[in-house]
Amino acid sequence: MYQFNYVKAKSLKEAGRLLASHGEAKLVAGGMTLIPTLKQRLARPSHLVDITQLAELQGIKLKAGRLEIGAATRHHQVAASAVVRKAIPALAQLASVIGDPQVRNRGTLGGSVANNDPAADYPAAVLGLGATIVTTQREIAADDFFQGMFATALKDGEIVVRVVFPVAKRAAYAKFAHPASGYAMTGVFVAQTGDGVRVAVTGAAPGVFRWKQAEAALARNPKAAALEGVALDASGFNSDIHADAAYRANLVRVMAKRAVAKLGRR
Ligand SMILES: Cc1cc2nc3c(=O)[nH]c(=O)nc-3n(C[C@H](O)[C@H](O)[C@H](O)COP(=O)(O)OP(=O)(O)OC[C@H]3O[C@@H](n4cnc5c(N)ncnc54)[C@H](O)[C@@H]3O)c2cc1C
Repeated sequence: MYQFNYVKAKSLKEAGRLLASHGEAKLVAGGMTLIPTLKQRLARPSHLVDITQLAELQGIKLKAGRLEIGAATRHHQVAASAVVRKAIPALAQLASVIGDPQVRNRGTLGGSVANNDPAADYPAAVLGLGATIVTTQREIAADDFFQGMFATALKDGEIVVRVVFPVAKRAAYAKFAHPASGYAMTGVFVAQTGDGVRVAVTGAAPGVFRWKQAEAALARNPKAAALEGVALDASGFNSDIHADAAYRANLVRVMAKRAVAKLGRR
């Protein structure tokens, strides 16, 4: 690891100022991605600005049919929250299957969405539920936020403050986890919202995406059988030592069917 300065920010304003005044500064939240990146010398920040204790980034609140979760909320807090379990049980279940207990006790919602790992779980829920990412500068719809592998709409110095999830009528998540890391080889989040059905897929492609043909099929018939034969373009899917693109394409359909079957049990 290279040398760097560690600063514990006392407010969001201070964190923003530090980022603005040190071009090579980086935010650190749970450090579950950033610290391994530093250890491998893949990043060389001049400052690490720790935001995990900031009051502005804490809290889980249900307000007028919208579930607001602070960016520094750890995965285990989401999984254990009675408010989340009641409002969007699928979100609590998703948080409960991220990585392992150590990762769930350190990793944060804001860090996960800002990092946008193509195999991360939260992006599927954020996109599947049509959530809004609230930053220090603006509100960004999930459909505009995720922009491919490790890429988001966040600008330099922009900090995720909270994520606002509309409460769906019903939602479910099915994940085929990598047996070593726990990351999603493929995960599918299905939500029945006031505007129709949304289906978001993580792990299969270079970035999370909506499977629009499945959404249309499920809007007509919200049963797993409706996904038989629905078109799925796997041409850009990931192929690696763990699974090739054709295998992942099969997993997408299987996980989507499992998620829809879970919906039926709610
Ligand atoms: C062994 C292991 C297994 C894992 N398994 C899974 C898994 O199964 N599923 C899964 O989804 N994830 C998994 N993860 C990732 C984990 O869930 C973390 O949530 C994720 O690494 C990022 O969150 P963090 O809080 O640790 O962010 P950090 O590592 O602290 O930061 C990640 C990036 O986000 C930026 N950042 C952090 N917070 C903010 C913010 N509020 N605003 C703007 N930018 C910000 C940082 O500057 C950095 O660039 C795993 C990690 C490990 C180490």
